[in-house]
Amino acid sequence: MPEGYCVKCKAKKEIIDAVEETMKNGRKAIKGKCPTCGTVMFKILGGKASATAAQEPAVSEPAASSPKP
Ligand SMILES: [Zn+2]
Repeated sequence: MPEGYCVKCKAKKEIIDAVEETMKNGRKAIKGKCPTCGTVMFKILGGKASATAAQEPAVSEPAASSPKP
């Protein structure tokens, strides 16, 4: 069960009936209820939409020109 902060209990609580939702900005969030008071809880998950910027290591070719004396 995910945990969230209940503003009514002013404490961290387990989120019951948790449903994962995707917000308009592409971030994911969990929506559920506080097990103690039933207040709707909302936890935003730090979802990064574009995190894969795989940079290839710069392959440095060895100097092909070998000066001959
Ligand atoms: Zn509560």
